[in-house]
Amino acid sequence: MPADQPPRSPEDGIEAAHRALRAGAVSRRGFLTATAAAAGAAMAGSARAEQASAMAATPVAGASPKGKARNLIFFVSDGMSHGTLALCNLFMRDRFERESRWTSWIRDERPRRGLIDTASFDSYVTDSAAASSAWSVGSRVENSSLCVLPDGSAPEPIWLRARRTGRAVGVVTTTRATHATPAGFIANIPDRELEDDIARQYVERGVDLVMGGGARHFPSAMLRDASNITLVTDRDGLLGAAREPAAALASGRRFYGLFAESHMAYEVERPTNQPSLAEMTAAALATLATRDGGFCLQVEAGRVDHAAHNNDAGSIVFDQCAGDAALAACLDWVKGRDDTLLVATTDHGNANPGIQVYGAEATARFRRLQGWRRSYEWLLAQLNLVPADDRTGDILSTLIEHGMQVRLKPSEAMGLDGWLRGHRVELFDERNKKGGALASVMANHVGVAFLGPNHTSDHVECAATGPGSEMLPAFGHLTDVHRMVAAALDLPEAQRLKAPALSGARSKPD
Ligand SMILES: [Zn+2]
Repeated sequence: MPADQPPRSPEDGIEAAHRALRAGAVSRRGFLTATAAAAGAAMAGSARAEQASAMAATPVAGASPKGKARNLIFFVSDGMSHGTLALCNLFMRDRFERESRWTSWIRDERPRRGLIDTASFDSYVTDSAAASSAWSVGSRVENSSLCVLPDGSAPEPIWLRARRTGRAVGVVTTTRATHATPAGFIANIPDRELEDDIARQYVERGVDLVMGGGARHFPSAMLRDASNITLVTDRDGLLGAAREPAAALASGRRFYGLFAESHMAYEVERPTNQPSLAEMTAAALATLATRDGGFCLQVEAGRVDHAAHNNDAGSIVFDQCAGDAALAACLDWVKGRDDTLLVATTDHGNANPGIQVYGAEATARFRRLQGWRRSYEWLLAQLNLVPADDRTGDILSTLIEHGMQVRLKPSEAMGLDGWLRGHRVELFDERNKKGGALASVMANHVGVAFLGPNHTSDHVECAATGPGSEMLPAFGHLTDVHRMVAAALDLPEAQRLKAPALSGARSKPD
């Protein structure tokens, strides 16, 4: 659209503002003014709102799906930079002498692929709530918001639309089940931190299958009052239920597997009573497939993102590999079928990890990740058991030797003393947070360095196979992925739900 013409719709206005900002044509203040004006236009009257709604349902570039999908599997590795995908593949080549399934799928089966812009309504760098909302409702929202638009309206999340077509819907994740990525497909909540409210919406809105952590947000009275929910709380319970998948969702019953009070463990230190993501995924597919009307399932390797925030090289690789096994379960399930759309993607990059040394030294150092037994989360929790004044680099060094089988040099342990006392040891301020200096020291031993502790503005990987996948654009936005999925499932138009009130200040993005 030429720059001197007024926007035809609120979405045009917002997109134009984003384009201008990207091109450096407007200041951030001007950008916010322009996007607010566009959002204001969306509130101006029902006719405009209907126009916006119609646009949201418009297939990409005039295309339409060749066939309709009965089922949808939406696989997310949360916070997966391209470097994370590569590290998993390099690790699996070295340790198992084969490619990751994600890589061999792309190489051998050539799914449709797109590069996806993840910017939210108010930021180049999205959080998981805004990204999941974009997939769910096809509009950009502000960071921390779950399917509540900047004008306060609350369009129907995608799993609710799918339920109206008779499909069963579910979410499987390694984070709390109420965390932002699964919540975006189900809930309308102005702040992602309101996880008790999110849990209540899961139950009230009839989600058929929920697996992950976050038991603390599902009071037993709430589950009991629902009366039709089967609850399992450990790996044995899940595997037992999976042997009779038809029973789990029979006669309108729902199936919940809540395996931890908060997040489930990182794969590198997963206890035997917690199922793997692949086990949860296989059980979910077997269970949902017993429903007559088809199903929609989101699977999330959610703690890849947490490991990236912590700059924890071992945890990021092990969790991405666990996600790869879950993706393999999905690919095995769709093999030979022509009625299921499978999408594999991420919501944003995070920390951009990569091997930063050359030659044989790169191989030797990276191989040390195979000795990793613990996460940085464990490491720092152990350190926090020591009185603050007594936390030294030597103690941290001893913990690293125990948990990661890596021996620091005395000078490195000494260097970490200042970081433990809160000194500004890195010149990029963000790198003094979370794993920060610890990750810099560990890069000397495992070769993997990180950009920082935050999400990035990267364009990200998206691959899709099955009916409707031909609508995935070679380059697009998260909202285009929504359009592909909604068209493939032939979903009814989204209803406008009652907009919830904002109860307090927005939480920080994560
Ligand atoms: Zn995050």
